[in-house]
Amino acid sequence: MPVFSRYSACAPAGNTPVLFDLLERLSSLTRVWFREHPLLADLQPVQLSALMYLGRCNRYSNTPLAVADYLGLTKGTVSQSLKALEAKGLLVKTQDERDKRSVHLTLSEPARQLLQAVVPPDFLMAATQRMGTRAQDLESLLLDLLRSIQQGTNVPGFGLCRTCRFHRTLAAGPLCGLTREPLAPADSELICREHQPPETTDT
Ligand code: SF4
Repeated sequence: MPVFSRYSACAPAGNTPVLFDLLERLSSLTRVWFREHPLLADLQPVQLSALMYLGRCNRYSNTPLAVADYLGLTKGTVSQSLKALEAKGLLVKTQDERDKRSVHLTLSEPARQLLQAVVPPDFLMAATQRMGTRAQDLESLLLDLLRSIQQGTNVPGFGLCRTCRFHRTLAAGPLCGLTREPLAPADSELICREHQPPETTDT
């Protein structure tokens, strides 16, 4: 199991914004935990990030370009990682039925099992359990923070489908109002590169 004792959190110093320090510390702890996990010894961080994204995204978002956009990397850089994952038997590539030039990437069964074993990290689960309902409050505040960042900057949405302005819940089941295609109930919990936040009404 990853060793955490030597990475105990320290108090933010000087006048550095506290929120930034906290986010940086949490992401550093997460990186260390993944790096030290024995099941992930053969994966580079970018390969793990691509797998985690593909394990959470919907069918409109599982292309090599979407992976590159999500990770903020070039398509060329990402394509090497995707090839390596395919060679390891963790990714399956399929051609789009309508557009033969486009491919979709799905996780193989071993990749799903791997992610199930390491995500979310044990240390985070244990800490949030200790926090009880305050962890849910924190989750909702962090969601507000992310939305605020996305509204203030031109970054791709990649939001949760059920929070999208195009998401419709009909008697026959959920529907994407953008593509007019039906969605499986589980699709509502996936992230989408076409996600648009709900319209806000000015008061
Ligand atoms: S409803 Fe929005 S988030 Fe969901 S599939 Fe359609 S565009 Fe994507």
